[in-house]
Amino acid sequence: MSFTLAIIGRPNVGKSTLFNRLVGKKLAIVDDAAGTTRDRRYAPASLAGLEFTIIDTAGLEQAPADALESRMMEQTKSAITEADVILLMVDVRDGVTAADEVFARMVRASNKPVILVGNKAEGKAAAAGISDLYSLGFNKIALISAEHGEGMGELYEALEEYREEKDEWEEVEESTEEYEHLSIAIIGRPNAGKSTLINALLGDDRLLVGPEAGITRDSISVEFSHKGRSLKLVDTAGMRKRSNIQHKLEKLAVADSVRAIKYAQVVVVLLDATAPLEKQDAVIASLVEREGRACIIGLNKWDLVKAKKKEYLEELRYMLDKQLPQFHGIEAVPCSALNRQGLDALMDACMNAYDIWNKRVPTAELNRWLEMSLQHHSPPMVRGRRLKVKYMTQIKSRPPAFQLSTNMAKEFPDAYLRYLVNGLRESFGLKGTPIRMNLKVSNNPFAKNKKK
Ligand code: GDP
Repeated sequence: MSFTLAIIGRPNVGKSTLFNRLVGKKLAIVDDAAGTTRDRRYAPASLAGLEFTIIDTAGLEQAPADALESRMMEQTKSAITEADVILLMVDVRDGVTAADEVFARMVRASNKPVILVGNKAEGKAAAAGISDLYSLGFNKIALISAEHGEGMGELYEALEEYREEKDEWEEVEESTEEYEHLSIAIIGRPNAGKSTLINALLGDDRLLVGPEAGITRDSISVEFSHKGRSLKLVDTAGMRKRSNIQHKLEKLAVADSVRAIKYAQVVVVLLDATAPLEKQDAVIASLVEREGRACIIGLNKWDLVKAKKKEYLEELRYMLDKQLPQFHGIEAVPCSALNRQGLDALMDACMNAYDIWNKRVPTAELNRWLEMSLQHHSPPMVRGRRLKVKYMTQIKSRPPAFQLSTNMAKEFPDAYLRYLVNGLRESFGLKGTPIRMNLKVSNNPFAKNKKK
């Protein structure tokens, strides 16, 4: 998967030099002093095997200063529009100038991914300007010397991350199914009230469908509707035959649950509210987490609850959060399958959980959040080494999965990971859904050459 890169910046920061280095030929050299008449051109470029296209705006360098202004701005704007990713270049020896800020504003307004490149960063002369770069507010920064070929590793890393992220998003787009197929499974301990609930939900319009292609005979699904949405209830053979066989054996109940979970997108773990959360419920919930399904809790037999209901509900929710940390913030809905109460709220919670499960967080937002989280609570030292957390992207949804670029994966401290995951839940409304975290140690072909 290829992408288009625009190198943006004020004159003389070194755009042509970098362009030449990436394109590999002296394409950008301008032979007429006017230069301004040239059109933007596209050139195939590569960096250590990473292939992309560069939009060349470099010809403008040589233009007379006053003629430059409007023409250059115009060119810059169209280059930004056409690019997938923008490389904003400044000269670190000059620090951040007023002109740099003008370009930065244009780039920011585009909302496209930006790599801020501090050029001419060779030697000591650069040191002063470097800290200045952060004032522009971009979180991906590479220091290079286009002329001496230094810092190409940093640039590679930034571009490679962008490319990966783009590929992964395209995969997600393709794999996302339609809302109509939402299927729900109701699982729980024997006697929690599953059959009663299924019958209550289906009412009279019980319509058996299946077995469908790809679904074994062990499981069929039953269509029903809620507020005009068509849903499927995963109904397993074991559930239907429950009166004939010794269904109450716990082992069988678990096997049944596993089957139902596999076929469902949203799982309702049904508890008996008068005897909530026993060990077997926690086991069942952990199966849902393992399969990465959306999940809610049904607090059934609410009609039998003798305690003050409001306080009792608060207490239960608190307890659930403690005992099921992998579903932090999970919705727990009181209901009575027998009296057909609370069923609408239960289905609403299913829809809500489904939406959260499908959620995608834009990379820019994610990294703005990450930067704040790192500042708020900086990564700890791990055996004498500073933990570094560099960059984050969401690589999948259903359930939400994130990739974190870091300098250590195996040694990544659990407590810090929990801090980040809980922060994600809070900040992006990812309550109650399983979250996957993939730690990736940056693999950089230039790493060996890096000067320390
Ligand atoms: P399953 O084993 O989970 O399928 O549970 P059942 O649906 O067979 O229900 C077990 C028992 O609980 C039955 O006697 C039901 O009538 C009763 N039950 C189910 N839901 C409720 C409810 O909301 N309130 C009350 N009071 N009893 C219920």
